[in-house]
Amino acid sequence: MSISENIIEFKSTLSESVSLIAVSKTKPQSDLLEAYQAGQRAFGENKIKEMAEKWEKLPKDIDWHMIGHVQTNKVKYMAPFVHLIHAVDSLKLLKEIQKQALKNNRTIGCLIQIRIAEEETKFGLPPEELPLLLLAAEDLPNVTIRGLMGMASFTANLNQVRKEFKHLASLYKETIKVYPKNTILSMGMSGDYEIAIEEGATMIRVGSKIFGERNY
Ligand SMILES: *Cc1c(COP(=O)(O)O)cnc(C)c1O
Repeated sequence: MSISENIIEFKSTLSESVSLIAVSKTKPQSDLLEAYQAGQRAFGENKIKEMAEKWEKLPKDIDWHMIGHVQTNKVKYMAPFVHLIHAVDSLKLLKEIQKQALKNNRTIGCLIQIRIAEEETKFGLPPEELPLLLLAAEDLPNVTIRGLMGMASFTANLNQVRKEFKHLASLYKETIKVYPKNTILSMGMSGDYEIAIEEGATMIRVGSKIFGERNY
């Protein structure tokens, strides 16, 4: 099937409460355009330079989602245009986003990435640090925390995956009591999005199921 057929078929299976980020990292601009022509407007990238190059060349009504780990010194390259930064996991990074958003006279939406996977990973905020980070973010006027993001362990054990998504969903439910602007729970990729949706994801990030396998 072609990319546009994949998009149309994939979207037909999703309920309206779940938004689809088409993860286009490593893929050529022609692939993104094909998805665009099928109506897709939200794309996810994990390298700031690659995202900025695609942003320059592709239609301006695309929403660009930074889904990868962000180095503080590179925020400035995406601050003029990025729609949502999914993987914020420190106050230092949030303060730099504030600084660059202000310079560009914008407000930038962010998700806090929570470390939910039991496997070893450097990325994501330990859940117990979430309340303090949310509180600190209130002093940053050009940053809006829109919700939470997480990645489950890379494992064939689907019970484990479900358990991790459940954990993230319960944290999300706690935060929305205090922060009603938090409406996004970003979890689920090609291999586990169905479980993520069952557990309450409002946004899924799907790459290979739409664009095919990546060659690095
Ligand atoms: C690459 C990536 C995805 C998409 O992965 P697929 O398995 O190709 O769907 C989703 N989220 C993040 C953070 C990624 O880096």
